[in-house]
Amino acid sequence: MFGWCGRLLQIDLTKRTGFEQSLSPEFCRMFIGGRGMAGCFLKRHVTRAWDDYLMPLLLFTGPLVNTASPTSGRMCIMSRSPLTGTVGDSSVGGSFGTSLKKAGWDGLIITGRSDCLCGIEITDSHWVIRDADHLKGAMTDMVHEECESKGSVLCVGPAAENGVRFSSIMVDRHFAAGRNGLGLVCAGKNLKYITVKGSENTPVHNKTELKAAREQIYRLAAASPVLMGEAGISNRGTGALYDLMDSRCMMPTENFQRTRFSDAARMNAHAYQKKFRPKKDGCKGCHILCKKRGANGEVIPEFETMSHFSALLVNTDIDSIIQANRICNSMGMDTISAAATLACFSEITGNRLTPDRIISLLEDIGLSKGEGRELGKGSAAFADDTGCNSASMSVKAQEIPAYDPRGAYGMALAYAISTRGGALSSQGIPYQP
Ligand code: SF4
Repeated sequence: MFGWCGRLLQIDLTKRTGFEQSLSPEFCRMFIGGRGMAGCFLKRHVTRAWDDYLMPLLLFTGPLVNTASPTSGRMCIMSRSPLTGTVGDSSVGGSFGTSLKKAGWDGLIITGRSDCLCGIEITDSHWVIRDADHLKGAMTDMVHEECESKGSVLCVGPAAENGVRFSSIMVDRHFAAGRNGLGLVCAGKNLKYITVKGSENTPVHNKTELKAAREQIYRLAAASPVLMGEAGISNRGTGALYDLMDSRCMMPTENFQRTRFSDAARMNAHAYQKKFRPKKDGCKGCHILCKKRGANGEVIPEFETMSHFSALLVNTDIDSIIQANRICNSMGMDTISAAATLACFSEITGNRLTPDRIISLLEDIGLSKGEGRELGKGSAAFADDTGCNSASMSVKAQEIPAYDPRGAYGMALAYAISTRGGALSSQGIPYQP
C-alpha cells in the first residue's frame, strides 16, 4: 500500500494491553486523511460521555504525512469534546504525526483509564506503558524536557489534571491541539504523555510525480504575497493577518462589542518584529515555517492569541501577551478559549482587566484556584451560572476565535454548522483575497 502504513495501534489503558489492527486499502481510500479515519472510529462511540472509559482518544495521520509533500507534517486528534459535548477535533503540527508514521502506524486509538498517571512510549513497532506519578501536576515544558530524548512528545499540563474544560494537548513544546478541551480527555484517562520515535519511510507510488507536484506548490506559494511576501505569514507568522482582520472589521474587540481595535497599529506583527526580531520555526517538513521564536527564545503568539489577548481584552501590553501565551502553553490551556473566557468575565464584572490581572487569573484557572475554578468551565458555563448568558461569545459552548463574522458573513455559517462549534474547520485560516 502506498501513502499509508496499513495498520493502527490500539491501546487499552485499563488492562494495559494493546493490539495491532490492519487497515484495508478500501478503508483508507474511503476515509482518506486523519480526520476522516478518526471520525469513522469515533462514530461507533459517539453516544458515550466524553469521560466514559470506553470513549477513545484518536490520533490519526493522512497519506501525505512522512512524504515529500509540503505542509503535510500534521495530525488529527479527536474525541468527544468535554467543552461542547459534540465531536471535538484539532489539527496539530510539530513532528508527532510524522514520527507516528515513521514508526509504522497510521493511527493510535487509546481507550480505558489507567489506575495511576502514566505515559505511553512507542518506538517503531514496540510500545510500553510507564507509570508517571512523579509528573503529576508538571508543566508541559517539564514533561518535554524529561521525555524528548525518547522522540516526539505529546503531553498535557496541570490545567487538564485540574479539570479545565478548555485544556489543550501540547506537542513538541510549542504546538497545541488547542480547541475542544481534548487535553481533559487525555487526563481523564490518566495519560500524561505519549512519545513516539520511528525509522521507516512511507512508500510513495510515484516519487517523480510527487516531486513535480511539490515544485508546483513551492512555485505557487512563492508567488503569494500573503504566504511568502515580506509582510506575509512566512516572515511575520500568522500575526501577519492582524492588520488585515482589523481593516476588514473582523477583529473582535472588547468581548465582541466592536469589530475594530483602535490600537491595532501598535499591536500588530510589525510591533512583534521590531521588539523580538523573531526567527522562523514550524512543523516537520514545512517550507513556509509560520511559527516564530524571538531572538531570546520567546515564543511569538499565533494571530488568534495575539488578537484575543489584545483587542478582545483591550490590552496594549505586548509583554503580557507573550507571558499569557507562555502560561497557557505551559499549563496546557487553549489560548483562544482562555482569553475569551476572561473577556466574558470582564464584561460580566464590569471591570477591564489589567495585564497583571490577566496573568494572575490565567494562573488561577490552570491551578483551579479561587475565581479560576469557575472560569475553568469556559465562558458559556460561567455566563450561565451568573445569569448573563449573552456575555459568552461562543457557539455550541466553544468560544469564537478571532474572526468576527460581521466582517465575513460566511464565517457565521461556518461556526453554526461546524461540528466543533465556535472554531474554524481544521483546514485553517479564512483568507479571502
Ligand atoms: S504553514 Fe505553519 S502550521 Fe502549516 S505546516 Fe507550515 S509551520 Fe505548520
